[in-house]
Amino acid sequence: MIKKLLEDLIHTIFPDLCLACSKLPKAAEASFCVECLHKMPYTDHFIIKDNAVTNHLRGRINLVHGAAILYFREGSFVRNMLHQLKYKGRREIGEVMGEIGARKMLESPFYNIPDIIIPVPVHPKKVRKRGYNQSTIFGLAVSQGTGIPFNDKIIIKSMESDSQTGKSRTDRVMNVSKVFEIAQKETLQNKHVLIVDDVITTGATLEACCLKALEAGASKISILCIAATG
Ligand SMILES: [Zn+2]
Repeated sequence: MIKKLLEDLIHTIFPDLCLACSKLPKAAEASFCVECLHKMPYTDHFIIKDNAVTNHLRGRINLVHGAAILYFREGSFVRNMLHQLKYKGRREIGEVMGEIGARKMLESPFYNIPDIIIPVPVHPKKVRKRGYNQSTIFGLAVSQGTGIPFNDKIIIKSMESDSQTGKSRTDRVMNVSKVFEIAQKETLQNKHVLIVDDVITTGATLEACCLKALEAGASKISILCIAATG
């Protein structure tokens, strides 16, 4: 606890520390230290059509492409980084990952430039508590890097999710699905929508969000997230 507080304090005093480990100084013109730059677990999802993200969703939704920038492992520094982004006010992590994601997306042969970027919503109560939706921070940076318009007012979360423990995959998707609402249906008509999120674990939230967008008139979906298991 004290160690954690000290780390946060050190970061406030010396903001030029690596975004991933918060210990070593950033390398020149980079957001990470040399060590983390070296071991950053980038996926090959941007150049491989059948990857862990697309395999998870293909056949269930009309998917153009999907990718995670990094592999997510319990106890890894990617997990720590996402925790800092989600709960510790470290927006710059989302911004940097958004820049990286935008670059990789533009270089990928599979995305075909979506029409609009939509973040997976979080409940307004959580946004108030944390100050922002981490997927919005990430999505805005992707928008800036690609020129694709961003809109976080289309799919909204109107209820808090129930616990997902012990539910089957279909039940989980159904369960999450009822908490999302479409606020601006006309905006989605025949659009190729890029749904962005911080991390894919079970994929139920993401799948429910995609289904909602398709239900509301979107024609196809692409996915971009910071990290994914598998
Ligand atoms: Zn580092």
